[in-house]
Amino acid sequence: MQDVERRLEDACARSGRRREEVNVVAVTKYVSAELAQRVAAAGCRHLGENRWPAAEAKWRLLQGQAVFHYIGSLQTNKVKDVVGRFDYIHSVDRLSLATEIHKRAASLGIAVPCFIQVNVSGEDSKHGLAPEGLAAFAESIRGLAGIRPVGLMTMAPFESEAEETRPVFRELRRLRDALNERALLAEPLTELSMGMSNDFEVAVEEGATWVRLGTVLVGKEDNG
Ligand SMILES: *Cc1c(COP(=O)(O)O)cnc(C)c1O
Repeated sequence: MQDVERRLEDACARSGRRREEVNVVAVTKYVSAELAQRVAAAGCRHLGENRWPAAEAKWRLLQGQAVFHYIGSLQTNKVKDVVGRFDYIHSVDRLSLATEIHKRAASLGIAVPCFIQVNVSGEDSKHGLAPEGLAAFAESIRGLAGIRPVGLMTMAPFESEAEETRPVFRELRRLRDALNERALLAEPLTELSMGMSNDFEVAVEEGATWVRLGTVLVGKEDNG
């Protein structure tokens, strides 16, 4: 964890950013509830999970002590498991999903902070909206009071040279800024959720406000 902290500080220094501008989601999907608890106790209060069944034990143990981020693709019929438990959803990528989150949140009297996931690289294997569809999507969710859009999220392709991910992160930032210029949402989007173990330093240099770190930060356990 200290090594990651130093790398974050260096990436901030290289790009003239303050370390406080970058939040870390410790992705605990590969590890046990006990290890997730140690991570939270060590000061990483933001935990990321990508499936409710695997997250449940951690949520029961740490609710109230940790902030839970849902980072995986989300089926509409699983929304009921996630809304009301997770504090952020990073993977909103279609209107049917947004509508379902909104309905569920509204019935609980809450508004869920959400990231719109964009498939910047265009890889078939990646979830997310096509960049061309972003503006129309933003307008279509504007009236959904159960959703509070806070930013954009993307996953870069895995590259053996992290530097090659830079155009993807730069483009996500450009898309966010362009959306804000057109003022299609009620509030400007301030956040960029981008950067994983393999490429987080490049993402920080390109403006990430949330990096999602699993392997490099909390490691992997066989029985996670
Ligand atoms: C698993 C996962 C991560 C963390 O991956 P690492 O490469 O282990 O850091 C980040 N974001 C998403 C969406 C994930 O599914």
